[in-house]
Amino acid sequence: MNKKRLFAPGPVEVPAAVLKAMAEPVIHHRTDEFKELFAKTKVKLAKVFCVDDEVIILSASGSAAFEAGFLATVPKNSKVLAINAGKFGERWAELARKYGYKLIEMKITWGKTLNFEELRNILKLHPDIKAVMTTHSETSTGVLHDVKTIAQITRQEIPTALLIVDAVSSLAAAELRPQEWALDVVSAGSQKGLMLPPGLAFVWLSERAWASDINLNPSFYLDIRKERIAQQKNSTAYTSPVNLIYALNASLDIILEQGLEKIWQNRASYTEAILQSAEAMGCTRFAQRVSPAVAALRTPSGILAADLVAAFAKRGLRIAGGQDHVKEFLFRPAVLGFGDKYDVIIVVAVLEEVLRELGQDIPYAKAVAIAMEILE
Ligand SMILES: *Cc1c(COP(=O)(O)O)cnc(C)c1O
Repeated sequence: MNKKRLFAPGPVEVPAAVLKAMAEPVIHHRTDEFKELFAKTKVKLAKVFCVDDEVIILSASGSAAFEAGFLATVPKNSKVLAINAGKFGERWAELARKYGYKLIEMKITWGKTLNFEELRNILKLHPDIKAVMTTHSETSTGVLHDVKTIAQITRQEIPTALLIVDAVSSLAAAELRPQEWALDVVSAGSQKGLMLPPGLAFVWLSERAWASDINLNPSFYLDIRKERIAQQKNSTAYTSPVNLIYALNASLDIILEQGLEKIWQNRASYTEAILQSAEAMGCTRFAQRVSPAVAALRTPSGILAADLVAAFAKRGLRIAGGQDHVKEFLFRPAVLGFGDKYDVIIVVAVLEEVLRELGQDIPYAKAVAIAMEILE
């Protein structure tokens, strides 16, 4: 059996220190011991979010955090704009549709980021838009959207509209400054940059987003105003996943020790190293504006992405393929969280081996040399 390696944009490898923290005996969630753990963890979490107030922790997958933030801030039946540039953008459009909001969709060709003038025009045309939804790192296409500029344009055109951002794959991977950039709702999950097992979701709200008390939240469990009251007292509204909180505390220690800015720089160079070395082997980059979280690549012509992903899997490595209409040719390796530059070398070396197996004629280790040069 091969050694198993996770190089997909989530879930990712979990460090031993985090796994060990998770193996602590379960404690009761209504105890001072838990409150202490929660209190110190949430301070570190805010640092990793680059905010000076609270981030709400939910026991759910990342999508729940987006849904919770959306439902807590956007009035029922109102008009919302979904920037849809891939699978996750599409998910948030579906969310709004399902809850009966008046949905305006800005559809963007997969692999591209948005045109700001087009955004401005849509906002001018619909001054009654209450919220704009976007992904930061659109994991399905490998694109990083400039949410700072999106926030500026939104504020200029419709000062009262909230900007709701899916940062599930960008947190602790790409520069993200919710307060400084004037974002309103930012959601994330545990299984990507935070290098935890799946199961935790996080959502931060700006002051004005908290102030938009709509009192109509249709969700019972995902009511973050109720959660906030509990979490301000270092407790949770429902049973806390205690062992995941232990794990979170441990992973945040690792992240803060490495330093956020260093992590942002590293991820960008890892992704660039994978992209450039893959290009030297006949692949093409897919993203117009590259997300540090994931390297989205087109296979050389004649090679199916599914075959390439399967050839990686045969060697014990899990990378992601493409979805929907890019399924045939898109593949997406990622070196997130605990992954380091040596993991980048592994990905590139295996890609070379796999492409050769699938019939590409490529020189030995040339791509690895390219990656090493970038990583230095
Ligand atoms: C992984 C990911 C999600 C994830 O959602 P889950 O609910 O944790 O499966 C949402 N948005 C983006 C951009 C992601 O990369």
